[in-house]
Amino acid sequence: MEYDVIIVGSGFAGSTLARKFADDDKKVLVYEKRPQIAGNMYEETLENGIRVHKYGPHIFHTNNKQVFDFLKQYGPWYFYEHKVVGKIKNTFVPIPFNFKSIELLFNESEAKEIEQHLLKKYKGLKTISIFDLLHDSDDVIQKFGSFVYKNVFENYTAKQWSIPVSEIDQSVINRVPVVLGYDDRYFQDQYQYMPKYGYTRIFERLLEHNNISIRLSTNALEDLSIKDSKIYWKCQEFKGIIIYTGAIDELFHYQFGALPYRSLDLVFENYDMNYYQPSSVVNYPNEEDYTRITEFKYFNDQIIDHATTILKEYPKKYNVEDENCIPYYAIISEENQKKYNQYYELAQKIPNLYLCGRLAEYKYYNMDAVIARALDLYEKVGK
Ligand code: FAD
Ligand code: UDP
Repeated sequence: MEYDVIIVGSGFAGSTLARKFADDDKKVLVYEKRPQIAGNMYEETLENGIRVHKYGPHIFHTNNKQVFDFLKQYGPWYFYEHKVVGKIKNTFVPIPFNFKSIELLFNESEAKEIEQHLLKKYKGLKTISIFDLLHDSDDVIQKFGSFVYKNVFENYTAKQWSIPVSEIDQSVINRVPVVLGYDDRYFQDQYQYMPKYGYTRIFERLLEHNNISIRLSTNALEDLSIKDSKIYWKCQEFKGIIIYTGAIDELFHYQFGALPYRSLDLVFENYDMNYYQPSSVVNYPNEEDYTRITEFKYFNDQIIDHATTILKEYPKKYNVEDENCIPYYAIISEENQKKYNQYYELAQKIPNLYLCGRLAEYKYYNMDAVIARALDLYEKVGK
């Protein structure tokens, strides 16, 4: 079969684009190097009957109606507002840190004073960055900011990124604000839903199309090569569209060096009990080696007696030489962006090659941002 479009990777970037092109009657070939589709959103059911997110907890949230409308076509979603607690000074308090967290960790008069100062200074705002609190001219607020920084952000961030907190791009830490009130949701987005039958089912339906062929357990780079800014597929020049959602440095054989990432050891544990912890995710900013524990039963209200599965996330350095090590988080910095730009320039010289997704663009993208980016790209090249 002649293909119009070749897509490398079956996460949300690749699968969204595959579907869009297929609906437009283009013949699409999707390569996926893993034995299954769905990228990092893949879910599987364990022997104890619990459905888990194999590559870490994924909670959908967005303010982008177009993205959610697109997803809704591929299966039912249920309303789910994610709530997280963090173990701070041996107490479980809401994260993002909010007024309830203040009241659990400070005595009544201190809590009242902090809340009053915050409300007066930031009247009308729902959330605030920890950096604004740290640099506030009001002593009470500044002291409170230092407390939150020390107990919520400093050690968690050091564990997660293993570089001095001062070197982390502030946008990363600002993903988790301080809440000026009692809203205890982890995300403040308008649309917060989870797929009723899991993400894998959504991907199956996205890719279920007569015009889409899928090659699993195959690294696309076995069939694709680049020479003189042209793409060759199985040794023939390929003039159709190539969508690449894999790691950009791998595509160009690491010629400018590997782009740095943070990785995770994901350790699943099964227990013979109804519930292990008080909420789906508990953050451990301080004493423990892991950053958070997810208990999957809370997602999709899985009702299974005397069994539960949890996941502990241990951050680690990404090692490009180790096949089992997954590049989870791009490390956003000027230096890394410069290296990325060198690869990007090479990619730009190939007129029918398009980069999309967290690895190809080296971005800290949430799922919704990747889908938005894929829909946008389709508008530009698909028509
Ligand atoms: P991926 O999902 O990584 O898909 C890329 C696919 O390409 C992979 O399946 C890979 O195997 C394949 N591939 C790569 N190279 C090749 C090749 N050469 N040949 C064949 N196949 C190839 N976002 C949220 O919105 N909410 C969350 O709660 C959330 N939680 C997260 C938790 C963790 C621990 C992490 C790391 C990320 C989380 N994210 C979350 C972000 C989310 O995972 C990404 O936005 C999403 O995976 C991006 O989709 P993608 O298609 O770009 O990449
Ligand atoms: N963070 C923190 N303490 C927390 C939660 C988050 O310091 O309890 C910081 C940390 O640097 C983390 C970043 O905020 O990498 C973003 O957190 P988020 O929960 O969005 O991370 P993700 O879900 O993408 O792993």
